[in-house]
Amino acid sequence: MTLTELPDQPHKIDNFIAGSWVKPKGLEFTIESPYFGKVIGVSHESTLEDINNAVKSAKSAQALWGKTPLKERTQVLFKFRSILLSEADEISKIVALESGKTFTEAKAGLMKGIEVLEYALSLQNSDQGGKMEVSRGVTCEYIREPLGVVASVTPFNFPAMVVMWTLPIALVLGNAYMWKPSEKTPLTSKFIANALNKAGLPSGVFSVLQGGQETVEFIIDHTDIKAIGFVGSSRVAKAVYKRASNHGKRALALGGAKNHIVLLPDADVELAGQGISDSFTGCAGQRCMAASVLLAVGDVDRHIQQIKHVAEATKIGDGMGAIITKQQVDFLNAAIDRAIYEGAQILVDGRNPKVPEIFKEGYWIGPTILTGLKPESEAVKNELFGPILTIVPCKTITEALEIENSNPYGNACSVFTNSGHFAQKVISNAKSAMVGVNIGVPVPREPFSFGGMNESKFGHGDITGPASLNFWSDLKKVTCKWQKQKDDNWMS
Ligand code: NAD
Repeated sequence: MTLTELPDQPHKIDNFIAGSWVKPKGLEFTIESPYFGKVIGVSHESTLEDINNAVKSAKSAQALWGKTPLKERTQVLFKFRSILLSEADEISKIVALESGKTFTEAKAGLMKGIEVLEYALSLQNSDQGGKMEVSRGVTCEYIREPLGVVASVTPFNFPAMVVMWTLPIALVLGNAYMWKPSEKTPLTSKFIANALNKAGLPSGVFSVLQGGQETVEFIIDHTDIKAIGFVGSSRVAKAVYKRASNHGKRALALGGAKNHIVLLPDADVELAGQGISDSFTGCAGQRCMAASVLLAVGDVDRHIQQIKHVAEATKIGDGMGAIITKQQVDFLNAAIDRAIYEGAQILVDGRNPKVPEIFKEGYWIGPTILTGLKPESEAVKNELFGPILTIVPCKTITEALEIENSNPYGNACSVFTNSGHFAQKVISNAKSAMVGVNIGVPVPREPFSFGGMNESKFGHGDITGPASLNFWSDLKKVTCKWQKQKDDNWMS
């Protein structure tokens, strides 16, 4: 499915508070479609008053929701899942329209979000807490309790998926959840909120607050918001983590990335060509797991030719989506120019790509492959967030790992090889939290958790999977003794 239609009228995007859509009281901002370069939505910044209203209703709703048995809470989210599945095409079209993704990518993101929802739904059978007799007549037990009102701040690039990393788990565990979507892609929030409403989630348990930096700061500073989940760039992730920590507040902030692929001469040429090209061109390079540095060990010319061949065949506007804003297109073009000035050769040039006529006002860069740069150059070190792959030739796998290890980020690293020995060397030595073998985008599937390390993550644990349960809840430890008689065990 391709995108060919703009909405007749811009979408009106409001806050969702106490089960109703309410216009935020702050300044107006517009939302553009990267495909068309045209306004597709209008929204407003949330003020402190808006946030106070939302928190007030969330707090009283949570008092009941938190006491509702886990199995009952889960039933609402089963209905939510059915609604999302039945509306998946409609939601994916909106995601694509506002984020620049292709329809297929948008739908894949939503389905990955639904996978996390399914994990949350499984908790009713798997998260029983645990109880044991620790001494004669004395038991210890875990009871998981919700935190209260919690919040999540998400980036532009996966409008439906990233919110679904945290929303289902936080809600199933009994919290009230407030979502601050990216101001660049807030349209999807309308569909998620309406789906939760239709599923029968009590009013106030889920809220949406529109806005940017100021809204996030109001959220972090609010004493009744007990935890913050954040996903976005490292600069902002660090600032959000710091601000929340200063309030003694629980925060987990996932940041940006610079992901490496180690390519060895024995790798399958077709597998590597497709996997590496898809990794740096998929979502137009705007994903935190995209490959951006290719560490080419030894003679891998045939592989590079294959990567180039696949990348050049990518159809812009259909096989590959758009760049989020005009400013980001300008930034990427300037970064390519700077790399060339530093001595890079350009193997594939994505500047001024050919795009279908209907998208000519949109924001585009085609797949770009650079080579001949030093490890310390900008295109090798910094996150650019576009479909740009920089090749760094390396003599040995050790040299490749040194470059990977010296990068401050730590999201993903993959190796393409047929050797178990070399694959293991990368698994053991990469300084990235998600490692792949013959896979360009090593995103763990549920129940395995998602999360980076170093400058790609601030805070402890991962954002999905088992560790996320302790982030969105408190574990109460209860020790009981009901018998009067004294035994010879000291604990009795
Ligand atoms: P961003 O950091 O600009 O914005 C993310 C969110 O933070 C938005 O909701 C935005 O409104 C808010 N925000 C912006 N500036 C702020 C400030 N100064 N204080 C408080 N809040 C602020 O990120 P983006 O451009 O929307 O998304 C792209 C970035 O996100 C890339 O760096 C990408 O790698 C990263 N990302 C990381 C992951 C991950 O899992 N690690 C996943 C997706 C995206």
